Amino acid sequence: MIQLYIPLNFLGVLYREIKQSLTDLDKMFTLMEKEREVADKPGALPLGARPHPNPPPGGEGGRGEPGPYRRGEGAGGWTVRFEHVTFAYEPARTILHDVSFEIPAGKTVAVVGPSGSGKSTLARLLYRFYDVQQGRITIAGQDVREVTQASVRQAIGIVPQDTVLFNDTVEYNIAYGRPGASRAEVEEAARAARIHDFIASTPKGYGTMVGERGLKLSGGEKQRVAIARTLLKDPPILIFDEATSALDSANERAIQAELKSAAQNKTALVIAHRLSTVVDAHEILVMEAGRIVERGTHQQLLARSGRYADMWALQQSAEGERFAEVIGM
Ligand code: ATP
Repeated sequence: MIQLYIPLNFLGVLYREIKQSLTDLDKMFTLMEKEREVADKPGALPLGARPHPNPPPGGEGGRGEPGPYRRGEGAGGWTVRFEHVTFAYEPARTILHDVSFEIPAGKTVAVVGPSGSGKSTLARLLYRFYDVQQGRITIAGQDVREVTQASVRQAIGIVPQDTVLFNDTVEYNIAYGRPGASRAEVEEAARAARIHDFIASTPKGYGTMVGERGLKLSGGEKQRVAIARTLLKDPPILIFDEATSALDSANERAIQAELKSAAQNKTALVIAHRLSTVVDAHEILVMEAGRIVERGTHQQLLARSGRYADMWALQQSAEGERFAEVIGM
């Protein structure tokens, strides 16, 4: 018996290890396709850690930069900046051309534009999946290439377009935002993301298995799980990549309300496919073929009667048509 037990036990350990490494792989691919390795510089310090205790007066150090991030601190000082960023995945094809913008600490900047214009690439660069070829990206005044990748990712929470859920329980999927979180904290995050009632209505509640082999969740429900996960992580910087798939308007409004509460007091980059998502943004960037072709607030952009105003008119009439269909006109 013992002879049988040892190999079986070994198989169990092996299984758990394989499962863990698959989970880790899954983790890597959760947000966006494949990751090209970008290595930390030798001796790189974490974001927020300063090699010199007294930064020069008048420099960025004078602007209330944060120290290493601690949960619950809010966005104080976590300004994000793209400075003349030019980037190509492959040398032959430049994707971003001289892109500059700033997300002041605690504000939301939204990016809109046609498919392929480079919106998600901005998010990938901020998360440092790739390094820029020209220009620089700073967080709290520090070039992301100069600090540890882990600390950059620790400071950023991402709600991706298509959330990949682990083949595990709802609780695991939410708590993943902050390993070691208690059930009460998981529930609190789920309530804030307005997914708690749904979870509570399932027979096994937070123990319900989800993912490929478990309960199938709708796109909106999955995105809410991702929002709960991010709320639990409570990072100072948030990237929200709005789902392209059409949601019904009740679901859309709910997601937007959740996004608003998730982005409160955070420095947020929102990649938007529906313009209704962006009306309150501090600044809206309109991208086309890797360039910012218009920028401003919703009102400023409408007043320009340019591309944004055209996009807005188009979406309004499309929504009007959808509404007319619903009410049978
Ligand atoms: P969508 O609204 O459809 O999500 P987007 O504006 O977010 O589009 P990006 O995903 O940033 O666009 O892509 C910009 C361009 O970069 C596209 O032409 C795309 O084909 C190209 N691209 C994206 N990822 C890669 C990659 N890993 N390797 C090579 N080219 C890529």
